[in-house]
Amino acid sequence: MRAAVLPGYDLDFVVETIPDPMIQHSNDVIVKVGAAGFCRTDIHIWMGQLAELHKAAGVSMPFVCGHETAGWVVEVGPGVTHVSVGDAVLLHPLATCGYCMACRRGDDMHCEDSVFPGIAAQGGFAEYVKTNARAIVPLPEGLTPRDVAPLADAGLTAYRAVRKALPLTTPGTRTVVMGAGGLGHIGIQALRSLSQTDIIVVDRSEQALEHAKIWGADHVVSTKDDGSHVKEIMDLTLGNGADVVLDFIGEHGPQFDAINVLGRHGTDIIAGYGGRLDFDILAQLLTPEATIVGSLVGTYNELVELLALTSRGAVTLTTTEFPLEGINDALSTLNSGSMIGRGMLIP
Ligand SMILES: [Zn+2]
Ligand SMILES: [Zn+2]
Repeated sequence: MRAAVLPGYDLDFVVETIPDPMIQHSNDVIVKVGAAGFCRTDIHIWMGQLAELHKAAGVSMPFVCGHETAGWVVEVGPGVTHVSVGDAVLLHPLATCGYCMACRRGDDMHCEDSVFPGIAAQGGFAEYVKTNARAIVPLPEGLTPRDVAPLADAGLTAYRAVRKALPLTTPGTRTVVMGAGGLGHIGIQALRSLSQTDIIVVDRSEQALEHAKIWGADHVVSTKDDGSHVKEIMDLTLGNGADVVLDFIGEHGPQFDAINVLGRHGTDIIAGYGGRLDFDILAQLLTPEATIVGSLVGTYNELVELLALTSRGAVTLTTTEFPLEGINDALSTLNSGSMIGRGMLIP
């Protein structure tokens, strides 16, 4: 099959022919890839930031990234009975075991014996990808793989963070969303459809902020190099600060802005990563009694919920499509901050 492979860290991706994935276990499923979202994590992999994880997982180069995939089932193992060849499906990013304590709680991301295609096994930037039956989410009528691929990771990550925010975002509260890109554009729509909180969206891209108003933002603030956007955000909260911050970036500075705009009893829910965080414990954590929450991708059931929201038209993906050969363009577009919505490869 054709695949966009990473020959080594920091090298350009190249499209070449590699062996097709094969059924090895009774619950394996092979999917013909219809679309695969391009994630900031693919940049982190490209930069070598996940090298330790790769070493631990026995991953070697060349490697196929791609962990938000949708397509059609082409082959199933003998133990798979609930999906059939030809079904249009979305892949939960993690292929979990189903037997461990976490799996039995429905806490998929903390499975003790999982395979993560695109992160620690060959992924979806190829004609075919292998996962297992537990990861397969059949698509509702009317949705195609191209309509939904980025829901598998960007969407799910944003949705889980929004779900954590929901009990705190009662009418009259103020929620600051950091980032209106791949995660943010889905998070804003999900938050808008499920909450009457006042939504303030912060991003560096004016174009993304224009879109954010359509997605459901009540106010938009553009990030300035001099940091004056922090005062703008505080003014929009009448000086009280935010009840909730959803940080979909987690690097390059917005993670500090998030702490700085948090109000009393405020909660900072962090779903983006790459950076570090430090703050004054007395002034910024104890005195305001702030809460800082980490959020990691999401569960199978949350993905089903998000798909239902999408099927009802409450969430619409904005994507920029690239052919497999365009993978290096996708990387540079995302790296430069000029990607609108989610980048998506169409093999
Ligand atoms: Zn991702
Ligand atoms: Zn498990």
